[in-house]
Amino acid sequence: LIPAIKVKNLSFYYSTSKAIEAISMDIYQNHITAIIGPSGCGKSTFIKTLNRISELEGPVKVEGCVEFFGQNIYDPRINSNKLRRQIGMVFQKPNPFTMSIYENVAYGVKIAMRRPQAEFDEIVESALKDAALWDEVKDKLNKSALGLSGGQQQRLCIARALAVKPKILLMDEPCSALDPIATMKVEELLHSLRSQLTIAIVTHNMQQAARISDFTAFFSTDESRIGQMVEFGATEQ
Ligand code: ADP
Ligand code: ADP
Repeated sequence: LIPAIKVKNLSFYYSTSKAIEAISMDIYQNHITAIIGPSGCGKSTFIKTLNRISELEGPVKVEGCVEFFGQNIYDPRINSNKLRRQIGMVFQKPNPFTMSIYENVAYGVKIAMRRPQAEFDEIVESALKDAALWDEVKDKLNKSALGLSGGQQQRLCIARALAVKPKILLMDEPCSALDPIATMKVEELLHSLRSQLTIAIVTHNMQQAARISDFTAFFSTDESRIGQMVEFGATEQ
């Protein structure tokens, strides 16, 4: 097992309160790690500390460290924008841009590099195939992404994240807004992606964690409402 991310004694404070206390855990390459726990225990906060997007919402304080492939991402010398580009993120509510299906997927890649159009076409097709969406959208790539169903929009958001070839994919309850069939499709997709990617997924659904994860981190809330990890277990798949 090779850790992609090592979290060491991480505590996290919003300006007003502590949201995470002393979490240590590893997220292993080419495995799916589920993070589960009651509402308010700090799951969303935790996942957002892994790519430093938590701090975009306001002043925060971080103690301990997060190592991404051996590098402490909270080292002041780290370029946090560059870091974020290596880490894909998918949120609870599908949030495609108000653009065509094609442009949604190409967007991040176009920012990252100048390439001939044909190369973007290939990247878009490949990401949509990886996200198991290609067959459903290949004839309407120039139509608005907002015309897709919720489940399709979420797979589009996954394609958008995959297009930039991230080393790790972070997901914050990606199926909570989806119906059971769409949820099943996303779960199958995550399994198929595992060979090429590391995945950390927040879920409040115990069955989902059991179905899809190789490792499960259980966060809890104590009486003072401080999130803590109490157990880090592996499920045999
Ligand atoms: P979960 O994802 O497990 O529901 P969160 O990470 O959303 O938990 O929240 C953990 C704690 O941090 C909660 O007490 C929540 O109210 C608080 N919190 C979350 N976001 C913010 C924020 N932007 N500012 C201040 N407190 C926050
Ligand atoms: P989720 O559990 O899906 O993260 P929440 O309802 O906990 O949803 O949070 C929704 C948004 O509100 C998030 O951006 C979170 O950071 C913010 N938030 C949550 N709790 C607080 C809080 N106590 N103060 C300020 N912002 C908060």
